[in-house]
Amino acid sequence: VSGDKNGPAGPAIGQAPGGLAVVQRFVNTRDVEQSTDELSSPAALADWLERAGLLDPSYPASTAAPAASTSGSRPSVASAADLRLAIDLREALRGVLRAHAGHGTADEPASELARIAGSLLARPEVGADGSVRVAPAGDGVRQGLARLLLAAAEATSLGTWPRLKVCIADDCQWSFYDRSPTRNACWCSMRVCGSRAKSRAYRQRSAAGASGAPARPRASRSGRTAAPGA
Ligand SMILES: [Zn+2]
Repeated sequence: VSGDKNGPAGPAIGQAPGGLAVVQRFVNTRDVEQSTDELSSPAALADWLERAGLLDPSYPASTAAPAASTSGSRPSVASAADLRLAIDLREALRGVLRAHAGHGTADEPASELARIAGSLLARPEVGADGSVRVAPAGDGVRQGLARLLLAAAEATSLGTWPRLKVCIADDCQWSFYDRSPTRNACWCSMRVCGSRAKSRAYRQRSAAGASGAPARPRASRSGRTAAPGA
């Protein structure tokens, strides 16, 4: 009745764990079904990255950064080129995550992702206790985008990366996390996109010359955008 995705299949599909959740949210800044895009301008991109905790308010102290003199001021606002890069990154990620769901191969989006990764910076950092980690470098927005890719890198080593997927329905393409034991989910919601695809296949099989085009079921997706933290 509810039309949301918290049915029997619900708990198996949802928000990605840990740092991967921000990658999922980044991919979902574009809602294909609703034709909306949160990254509508360079300023909107900078705002989004800041809200997601991906912008470093304190500039890299280890480099002789002239920006450090402007104490406390935010790193540069995004440029039009930054926005283009961010959107290219998002759509390359979408392609890779669709391949995770079994839609085509990752070849093309992966090489696009590699091109974008080539313009972002990261470097090893050693803590006072001798611990070593890879940290994003560069500045401002590009540092934030590098942080997204490093979250993907961490997920790759944890083995969770292939579970982050994008719904194979062309008119959906929503990112979801596949918690199913079989790891073979391909729709963001079995109760919406899955059943929609099934009824479409059924109509195609049984239509053959029937009268008019049947009305396409548009199930509510309200449950989908609802609660990042709830
Ligand atoms: Zn879907």
